[in-house]
Amino acid sequence: MNISIDDIKNSKDHSLKINFENTVKDLATDGSVVAELIFSAFGSYIQVTGKIVANVKLVCDRCLKDFIKKIEVDVDETYILGSVKSAKEAHSGQEIELKDGDFITELQGQDYIDVDDLIYQSVTLNIPNPSVCDINCNGSPEMEKYLKKEISDPRLEVFKNLKIKKEGK
Ligand SMILES: [Zn+2]
Repeated sequence: MNISIDDIKNSKDHSLKINFENTVKDLATDGSVVAELIFSAFGSYIQVTGKIVANVKLVCDRCLKDFIKKIEVDVDETYILGSVKSAKEAHSGQEIELKDGDFITELQGQDYIDVDDLIYQSVTLNIPNPSVCDINCNGSPEMEKYLKKEISDPRLEVFKNLKIKKEGK
């Protein structure tokens, strides 16, 4: 779904509200992603605010089981119609303050905002790392084996020796 910059500018109060309910390309979800987004045009930039709710299909980092996690994102994104540099110049002396690297996307003349991409980026950035199916998840036998293997890593032998020396003091 693309939102045209002209449609935002031509809307009442230069503000366009959309309700999104669909699946998003490359985002594995259980059912549709639901989003309510408000696109507001301010001269040389577009501000997007709103909320996204997605039931994302994830793999537990401890037990490797599939699980579904509800991800809720409060959206606050800025799209600059040209470049950050030109927007700063256009708004110099006004109240707007643009910080470098503050989730600002440069549209570089692109005349629309890709809503699917916005949702994909917002949701994936909010997936916790590590993702765990349950706070009490103890992992799988496979994972335990993996952890044991790590302890017998020859590179860690040096720490074992250190410990023995300390005890022998
Ligand atoms: Zn788990």
